[in-house]
Amino acid sequence: MYPKIILKPGKEESLKRFHPWVFSGAIAGVEADGEAIEEGSKAVVYSAHRQFLGVGHTQVGGIAVRILSFTPCTIDEDFYRERIRQALRLRQNLGLIRPDNNTFRLVHGEGDFLPGLVVDIYGGTAVMQAHSPGMYLDRHLIARALETECGDFVSAVYDKSENTLPFKAAMDQKDGYLWQKERGKAPHEEAGRLVALENGIRFYPNWIEGQKTGFFIDQRENRALVERYAAGKRVLNMFCYTGGFSLYALRAGAKEVVSVDSSEKAIELTRKNVELNFGQKTAHKAVAEDAFDFLERDGKNFNLIILDPPAFAKHRNVVKQALQGYRRLNAIAFKNIAPEGIVFTFSCSQAVSSEDFRLAVFSAAAQSGRKVRILHQLTQPADHPVNIFHPEGEYLKGLVLAVE
Ligand code: SAH
Repeated sequence: MYPKIILKPGKEESLKRFHPWVFSGAIAGVEADGEAIEEGSKAVVYSAHRQFLGVGHTQVGGIAVRILSFTPCTIDEDFYRERIRQALRLRQNLGLIRPDNNTFRLVHGEGDFLPGLVVDIYGGTAVMQAHSPGMYLDRHLIARALETECGDFVSAVYDKSENTLPFKAAMDQKDGYLWQKERGKAPHEEAGRLVALENGIRFYPNWIEGQKTGFFIDQRENRALVERYAAGKRVLNMFCYTGGFSLYALRAGAKEVVSVDSSEKAIELTRKNVELNFGQKTAHKAVAEDAFDFLERDGKNFNLIILDPPAFAKHRNVVKQALQGYRRLNAIAFKNIAPEGIVFTFSCSQAVSSEDFRLAVFSAAAQSGRKVRILHQLTQPADHPVNIFHPEGEYLKGLVLAVE
């Protein structure tokens, strides 16, 4: 039924170990039987000996196929329903769906056996993001599957693929909402007005204007750890975006919280979220400035510093520069932090390994001349699972450090 992709001899090994990517160099040829094979089409992959290997989405580029199933099947609404059901069961088992928590990642690409698809839940809104042309082309199937499987808590599905797809030009008009239970938006359901909950913290996710799907869900557990350390402290939250870490520090009873981000928009969102939780009179200050400049000049006398920069390495070939960036940033924090301070430091660059990141932080510590101990080694939470056959899915790493 689907066009056939035949691999070169020996190139089937990684697929037999359930790694879901076929690289373009592994392909010997295509047998399309008159059917057009276009970017995002479904195809069946066979070994050189005509052994079935998997069914997947094709795309142009280094990764030529992303495998959706290692057993023969049709990729239809039922297929997506089954995978989404499985993903939802995991989140239920994790205890993420509670009256005080309605924000979580429902689908994390390869980690949920749906390569190229991300779905984040903010209360009643599911925000999907396609990272592959095939997932984008299947967006209506996915929206229907979400409606059927999650309809008791989800009342709208929004597509936020416009900044993740490499084939932007080929995308047809932006759909926005793929499905809404009630036609036309109820005012409280609008992006930027809906109040979502994470561990009892309230915030406004904005899936239309915000980065990613509107909020950095992957820091939920690390924020809760900040809460354990923040009571009575002077806290500096660098690269705050919508202020997630600051909100937890304020709830813990920090003496003072300063949030810094170079984006004015992010600072405005942080202020709104602080006010939503704690009103106008708080020990919070938000500053729109470059993090390196602020930290160098005003970073002294804080007891707890959070460093959560954007991915410094977006590609493998810039890893070296990225590591220098991490080293420089951490070195300023170590130099300036108050005695017996705590640093939460993160890297979300997939291309930077945890060993390399730790080495960069080590260099920074050595450069500062201060004694540094590792208290916690952090990673992404369980609603961002890593498929063991696809280690590329691991991206977030963090260290909690005690600086003498
Ligand atoms: N810690 C945040 C997520 C950080 S995302 C959270 O928990 O939600 C990275 C942020 O860094 C973005 O908001 C971006 O605007 C900001 N940023 C990027 N470069 C910066 C710089 N040089 N100085 C300060 N902020 C910067």
